[in-house]
Amino acid sequence: MVENTESESRKLLVRLREAMAGDDAGQARLDKITQLIADSMGTEVCSIYLFRDEETLELCATEGLNRESVHQTRMRVGEGLVGRVARTGKVINTPDAPSARGFRYMPETGEERFSSFLGIPIQRLGEMMGVLVVQSKETRDYSADAVYALEVVAMVIAEMTELGAFVGEGSAMSPLHQHSVLLKGITGQEGAAEGHIWLHEPRVVVTNPFADDPHREFERLQEAVDELRVGVDKMLQVSGGNKEQAQVLETYRMFANSKGWMRRMEEDIARGLSAEAAVEKEQSLARGRMAQVQDAYLRERLSDLDDLSNRLLRILTGQGKDTGAELPENPILVARNIGPAELLEYGRKLKGVILEEGSVGSHAAIVARALAIPLVVRVGRITTEGLNGDHVLVDGDHGAVHLRPDDPVVSAFRDKIAMQAQAQERYTSIREKPAVTKDGQTVNLLMNAGLMADLPSLENSGAEGVGLFRTELQFLVRNQMPKRSELVVLYQRVMEAARGKRVVFRTLDIGSDKVLPYMKPQDEPNPALGWRAIRVGLDKPGVMRMQLQALIRAANGGPLTVMFPFVAQFEEYRQARQEVDKTIEREKRLGHVLPSSLEVGAMLETPSLGFAPLRFFEEVDFLSIGGNDLKQFFFAADRENERVRKRYDSLNVSFLSFIERIVERCDISGTPLSFCGEDAGRPIEAVCLAAMGIRTLSMRPASIGPVKSLLLRVDLAELRNIISDARHRGDQTVRPAVMEYLRGL
Ligand code: PEP
Ligand code: MG
Repeated sequence: MVENTESESRKLLVRLREAMAGDDAGQARLDKITQLIADSMGTEVCSIYLFRDEETLELCATEGLNRESVHQTRMRVGEGLVGRVARTGKVINTPDAPSARGFRYMPETGEERFSSFLGIPIQRLGEMMGVLVVQSKETRDYSADAVYALEVVAMVIAEMTELGAFVGEGSAMSPLHQHSVLLKGITGQEGAAEGHIWLHEPRVVVTNPFADDPHREFERLQEAVDELRVGVDKMLQVSGGNKEQAQVLETYRMFANSKGWMRRMEEDIARGLSAEAAVEKEQSLARGRMAQVQDAYLRERLSDLDDLSNRLLRILTGQGKDTGAELPENPILVARNIGPAELLEYGRKLKGVILEEGSVGSHAAIVARALAIPLVVRVGRITTEGLNGDHVLVDGDHGAVHLRPDDPVVSAFRDKIAMQAQAQERYTSIREKPAVTKDGQTVNLLMNAGLMADLPSLENSGAEGVGLFRTELQFLVRNQMPKRSELVVLYQRVMEAARGKRVVFRTLDIGSDKVLPYMKPQDEPNPALGWRAIRVGLDKPGVMRMQLQALIRAANGGPLTVMFPFVAQFEEYRQARQEVDKTIEREKRLGHVLPSSLEVGAMLETPSLGFAPLRFFEEVDFLSIGGNDLKQFFFAADRENERVRKRYDSLNVSFLSFIERIVERCDISGTPLSFCGEDAGRPIEAVCLAAMGIRTLSMRPASIGPVKSLLLRVDLAELRNIISDARHRGDQTVRPAVMEYLRGL
């Protein structure tokens, strides 16, 4: 039976190929396909429904139903049996369609005469493209082999649809990947950008889904799998002791040696598919499963299989990562996910980044922010919807992506970019001006940095120094722990670029979401409250000492400022300070020149530190409020979790009152205080922080202009009164009152 069906499906595929090879226009091809499927399967009806838009399916060709209903009959996803196949991605096989759940009678097609129904999803790599249906009058249960044969055909149709085989004269069909789509995600980095898609991992295009000689195809598949195995074994050898990487590679190996996986692909080849089409069919199935699996571990394994299939496809088609294609003009990078090092390699060439996965706090997001490139994360379907070179608008402010936008959207967007450019010009004109408010208060504006790419901003932004240098970024973008000598060179370059301006080097702030690829990941129930930052530094002081040594040597007799992250109690600061003193002693003994001056500060990122003994405030050389962390602990709302994070406004009176209290304590003890969380770079938040008494703000370089521009216009004493009134009224947040004041300026 299998033999028979195999030859049937082979025959079907051969005929299909002939139909595709002719010069017919798109519609004629589709019509021919339905005819020959109905003929080969011995059914009265064969129809192809394709997506018109995200929600609507359209009958695009039929043999057996009313011809007039082609391009007229439409249904929503989920509606009727066809809609159900499209929604679930699952086959429906029923001998008695009219009594099946969800059956919808469509008089225009005359389909009530047909009893049996077999609906097969047309999908490619997890992307639903339509539904292939056969129907017949007799009450017939289609055999598993018939279903299988049609699945193969559906896959070929998907492939051909993707290649645009059905587009053309006479086809009223709206081809996929041509209409405009608005995709929603989450803001990773604000800003607007227009450009063209550059796929980080270009799709492999299977141009020839059919093959004449199955034996040749078996051989090709076998050779490719062998090559893949060798490659995976090699990667495993060089992965060293990295457990996570080894785990992924083990999964690769498991699949590469999996008999079931090979057998299924060989069966597909026996039925007339080319080796690459067989691989892609398996990959599609895995993607389909991935969409339905909830279990995180299983999802990851399926995603490993997906990567593995991509590698195999590249070997088979010879389409490497380097396709020889040039970056388009104004490239917008699109990827499922990307590591910080890879993103850095593209650097400032990119105009924007869109990630299908990713998160706001991911390392890639940190890099994108440092590079000031608009970034939208969690944009579902972008890697399947977007094609290389597609026109795209990235709206980082609203976390939205306009793919292949229509003209009105483009012009509105360009207006927005032009307005931003104008504003940027205004900011340039005030670059050299100090930020003095209407009531004569000076606010120092510093920048946050962490990458070499940030350094030119010290000149361009008008920053008076670096208020926060996140040293962990240099650790995160590497595959192995940097050496002390490398760090010395790096820190020297930073200090040189600063040309005497103060740079606050924050020691390694790892843990929580910042996991070094070469360090054993901690399995903690709550990493944000876990072993991170200074806690790691004090428990395992080796790296901290190395870093301190590197900083002292880089200072080379000049001034040095060091800051410890995430200090939660006085004692931690004391211990860290002792480490600094010991390192200074050691360096002295080794004959190294010592810094001309040394400041050792702490970040105030936990509420507990705000209530530390006054003695702490006296001992510490300076404090910087890490508002991002402080806020998440103050409100007990994870900074990475959009759902809870958004509930609590930074201008909430409790939070501002807490800031005010810290300011008061610093005033009493004479401790220099700054604020270096993201809020420092948001103009409205920044002026309110200034009104609470903060006189030093450290922010992304791109924010300095907008913040300064607003500071120049406000009267801090007035603003403070407005905030006090709102507090006395019992407002939850002072935002509405502040906004009203600002509008009146
Ligand atoms: C903060 O927590 O506010 C901060 C500046 O540090 P990071 O964002 O690197 O945790
Ligand atoms: Mg922090």
